[in-house]
Amino acid sequence: MENRELLRVNHLKKYFQTPSGTLSAVDDVTFGINSMETLGVVGESGCGKSTLGRCILRLHEPTAGEVIFEDRNILECNKAEMKELRSKMQIIFQDPYASLNPRMTVSQAIAAPLIIQGIYKPSEKEKIRKRVAEMMDVVGLAPRLVNSYPHELDGGRRQRIGIARALSVNPKFIVCDEPVSALDVSIQAQVLNLMQDLQAQMGLTYLFITHNLSVVKHLSNQILVMYLGQLVEKATPKQLFKNPVHPYTQALLSAIPEA
Ligand code: ADP
Repeated sequence: MENRELLRVNHLKKYFQTPSGTLSAVDDVTFGINSMETLGVVGESGCGKSTLGRCILRLHEPTAGEVIFEDRNILECNKAEMKELRSKMQIIFQDPYASLNPRMTVSQAIAAPLIIQGIYKPSEKEKIRKRVAEMMDVVGLAPRLVNSYPHELDGGRRQRIGIARALSVNPKFIVCDEPVSALDVSIQAQVLNLMQDLQAQMGLTYLFITHNLSVVKHLSNQILVMYLGQLVEKATPKQLFKNPVHPYTQALLSAIPEA
């Protein structure tokens, strides 16, 4: 089992200028993620989790620091290098309804990254059709839904489209930004199980962001606890649940009924 570090974040900072001054959304955060592992990132709403995930993918431009992916600092990559990296580093969003174009069918939504990344030309219709069918199968979407629109599907199926889109370009690393938080509790477990199966099948590495510690308890190798933009604790789930060191981690744990 390979456990080489795939991604390293060094002293990452993201400041936003707001009318009331400078806000340190991510404040000097350093950590690494091993290949094919899951790093959970937990903390209350507004503590900087999404900003961290977006900075790693350069959807937000960090203020300072390094993001080392496969031995290069992606913050120094030019546009062409970033385009190449985009197929290796993907994101799954919380609300698939907001992140999916309502006018695109399932097939168009899954095909879009393949075309944007230049994996297929729009004219290569048969190849695209085959890849879309393959991805729908991988995420458990029935073939009959290929021409459906997002509003015709339930939340679980919409999130399966979000996952299929992210995986269609064959990434290695995925930022999962609250991927089950908008789903009914009964559907959450199905989607989490799917994500775990896909991780094993495809050798994926996850940064899994959630405000709900119980969601990442079972699927993380390590958990980072963030508080006000800073990393306050890093531990295995077992250590964290048994012996939380930081008072904020203790507060997070006490919010979980079964903990
Ligand atoms: P979380 O994902 O943990 O809920 P966020 O990363 O979304 O937290 O936000 C962290 C902080 O940064 C919050 O105070 C939020 O209001 C602020 N923030 C996020 N995005 C922006 C932005 N584009 N401009 C200004 N402030 C922002």
